[in-house]
Amino acid sequence: MRKLCAGNWKMNGLRRDAVALASALAVRAKAEPVACDLLVCPPATALAWVADALAGSGIVLGGQDCHAAEKGAHTGDVSAAMLKDAGCGVVILGHSERRAGHGESDAEVRAKCEAAGRAGLGVILCIGETLAERDAGRTLAVVSRQLEFSLPDGFGAPDLAIAYEPVWAIGTGRTPTVAQVEEVHTHIRATLAARLGDAGSVRVLYGGSVKPDNAGALMAAANVDGALVGGASLVAADFWAIARACA
Ligand code: PEP
Repeated sequence: MRKLCAGNWKMNGLRRDAVALASALAVRAKAEPVACDLLVCPPATALAWVADALAGSGIVLGGQDCHAAEKGAHTGDVSAAMLKDAGCGVVILGHSERRAGHGESDAEVRAKCEAAGRAGLGVILCIGETLAERDAGRTLAVVSRQLEFSLPDGFGAPDLAIAYEPVWAIGTGRTPTVAQVEEVHTHIRATLAARLGDAGSVRVLYGGSVKPDNAGALMAAANVDGALVGGASLVAADFWAIARACA
């Protein structure tokens, strides 16, 4: 399967930074093409400018979250249709920073997936265990529960990916071993097959402290179909090195 290298810029970058980073990536896409799909997810305020900077580069634009409703009295929120309108093809949903920082439940994440599907957006659905859950030997049970309750039945998003992101690996510089990644990814793939029937086109991404120096080993692991990259996606050269490892 062609891998996906996705960058989650989180709440980083004013207009100048976002345009500079996107422009640098667009230049690299022409000068040093890579054989993987590329996605960047800037803050909502920068979407339109980044869309312009990426035009013609083949790099897809994504949102970092959306509201479950189509429109209405939801101050500060952004709908899936708005993301689509701003040029996005994909949205990240259920990121652990939203689950923890905004108290998002599996049921809310599921409703957001449905909203994204209705708007014609692809979805990267994030799941992953905390350190306490891993230490208690509950990793597979936790990701099973998150998949069961966050992923709508027979989900029909045009482009679905599951991102396995151990919470304890995000932004910490710590990563699971390749064997641990393979164990969880193989479990996710089997769960998806049982759940969705034909899940062969669903990519299972790894996320959590992916850097240029560990991307080769992580991306070569069984059932790893790409990376969701946080911190390292803010540096064009690092993101490109990871994309090369994906390719
Ligand atoms: C993320 O937040 O999705 C992530 C993987 O972050 P980092 O790469 O910085 O650990």
